Amino acid sequence: MGKVAVAFASAAVVAACSVAAVMVRRRVKSRRKWRTVVEILKEFEEGCDAPVGRLRQVVDAMAVEMHAGLASEGGSKLKMLLTYVHDLPNGTEKGTYYALHLGGTYFRILRVHLGGERSYLDVQDVERHPIPSHLMNSTSEVLFDFLASSLERFIQKEGNESNSQGVIKELAFTFSFPVKHTCISSGVLIKWTKGFEISEMVGKDIAECLQGALNRRGLDIHVAALVNDTVGALSLGYYHDPDTVVAVVFGTGSNACYLERTDAIIKCQGLLTTSGSMVVNMEWGNFWSSHLPRTAYDIDLDAESSNPNDMGFEKMIAGLYLGDIVRRVILRMSQESDIFGPSSSVFSQPYVLRTNSVSAMHEDDTPELQEVARILRDLGVSDVPLKVRKLMVKICDVVTRRAARLAAAGIAGILKKIGRDGGGGITSGRSRGEMQMQRRTVVGVEGGLYMNYTMFREYMEEALVEILGEEVSQYVVVKAMEDGSSIGSALLVASSLQS
Ligand code: ADP
Ligand code: MG
Repeated sequence: MGKVAVAFASAAVVAACSVAAVMVRRRVKSRRKWRTVVEILKEFEEGCDAPVGRLRQVVDAMAVEMHAGLASEGGSKLKMLLTYVHDLPNGTEKGTYYALHLGGTYFRILRVHLGGERSYLDVQDVERHPIPSHLMNSTSEVLFDFLASSLERFIQKEGNESNSQGVIKELAFTFSFPVKHTCISSGVLIKWTKGFEISEMVGKDIAECLQGALNRRGLDIHVAALVNDTVGALSLGYYHDPDTVVAVVFGTGSNACYLERTDAIIKCQGLLTTSGSMVVNMEWGNFWSSHLPRTAYDIDLDAESSNPNDMGFEKMIAGLYLGDIVRRVILRMSQESDIFGPSSSVFSQPYVLRTNSVSAMHEDDTPELQEVARILRDLGVSDVPLKVRKLMVKICDVVTRRAARLAAAGIAGILKKIGRDGGGGITSGRSRGEMQMQRRTVVGVEGGLYMNYTMFREYMEEALVEILGEEVSQYVVVKAMEDGSSIGSALLVASSLQS
């Protein structure tokens, strides 16, 4: 080999070595970044850990807080609101009734015909629309005029078919926000939740606001009941099955209600002496306990929300928030590594990742996780490698599993309070140590998160069995109730007008 050729060959070797060195350095760097990501995931997973021992502490805390909230006004973060609903629909109701439901994301209008037999419940013309987002921080007048005009259109569509010109239509207003009732048909807004912010409405009578808007349009509609969505769900559950004593909603937000003995509602003794029981709206979204597995992501989500230091439980379990917890974890990972590529800044936008996308990614059963890739692409993040897509699924799993397990602990807490958990219950009036005969207990559940997210449902039911044990679980039936809160509220109007 000539001198030139040798020089050429050695230059090539040097070049190859430096390319190799760069590649090795890159590989080392990328391995280091991946390790960082794995550590973030591990730390997050540990922070969310909710083994059955911890869940039982949450169960106890829930039962204790319920008791405290019933003992005195302001005695607990759980408001334990009176609903003045003493009797639930029993199946004998007759007639035509309407419901207008303002949820956290959707509003719905429907009509039911009742034939006086439990089996004859005819639900008609269910309309469901997203609530236009500008209404969430508009004014009371704008919001109620919008609801009244939607109702007017609904009624107009009925045309002559209902043959009810001039007859007053009885309406249930299903309202998914905390209200202090003075009777079943009126109550004032305590506070907004789920991102709504119309401050002038706090303290106003909600039924009166709607009635005013209906009157301004000259509609023959009477707001006969103001019903919390959970109470609506309980009403439908009870209508079909009188063993239903608890109802829970997992939608945009989360809340629960149950049938309580009036002598256990200590803060209102005297006021309630005539009847044996009343439905209590727990407003459990605001539940708090130091046993809840809270992470730095939850703390930041809360601090940056429109209602900081409020609704701590809801922010860990409800549909509005699960997507944003996932987003926060991804954001931190992408800040500390570049695994999501150059477009990952999209994850700094609050609420850009919806819980619907979380369930779609979590339940993606294609071998290459094509659904995950599609959702990321829709967010503007393309070419995400398979191992990162698998990581996404894992984050969704951690967030949803924790939510579902805490939701189960909440339900078990209610069962404990009313002595349906196989123990003696938290006593109040009932003698201590007295064992309750295990009775069949139905828990009605509704809401978009529960109805549409199979993994959430399965994790929740699995945790409930873990907490209660196989034997007691046989007596606890969790029943899904589609549109339960709206339909049930209409049933409640029927039964309250009939009694
Ligand atoms: P609202 O809260 O207005 O009463 P829903 O009960 O229908 O309405 O709940 C809607 C919420 O449920 C959505 O905002 C979302 O958080 C959640 N949700 C709806 N569909 C899904 C889904 N496929 N997977 C996961 N969560 C869902
Ligand atoms: Mg709802």
